[in-house]
Amino acid sequence: MDNCLFCKIIKGEIPSNKVYEDDEILAFKDINPVAPVHILVIPKKHISCAKNIKVEDEALIGKIFTVINKIAEDLKLDKGFRIVNNCGEDGGQEVMHLHFHLLGGKKLGISF
Ligand code: 5GP
Ligand code: ZN
Repeated sequence: MDNCLFCKIIKGEIPSNKVYEDDEILAFKDINPVAPVHILVIPKKHISCAKNIKVEDEALIGKIFTVINKIAEDLKLDKGFRIVNNCGEDGGQEVMHLHFHLLGGKKLGISF
């Protein structure tokens, strides 16, 4: 998608601090962290939001969660972490490329 910020990050047109990459998934530090660890984990395939995940994406979405576990292990988030997905306008989604926030590094409060 030509006008998608995260697609531009995937293509390297916009720089990012990568923490994980394979042929299907990219993870990078959020530019505006709200916790000591705040990483965005995204599929390289452009899926606009969780509402648009299709049956054929099931394996990819499952893999995102095992990648999150690997990152959490690497970063020693032994006491736990939070995964957040904002979907659509009411969900507070600002970037319309599916992404999962991985938050941790402290005891998180109720609000995101
Ligand atoms: P959303 O509100 O859509 O769930 O989250 C979008 C996230 O993307 C926000 O936490 C915001 O800080 C982050 N973000 C927006 N633009 C950039 C950018 O150019 N680079 C990085 N690394 N993160 C970004
Ligand atoms: Zn995109």
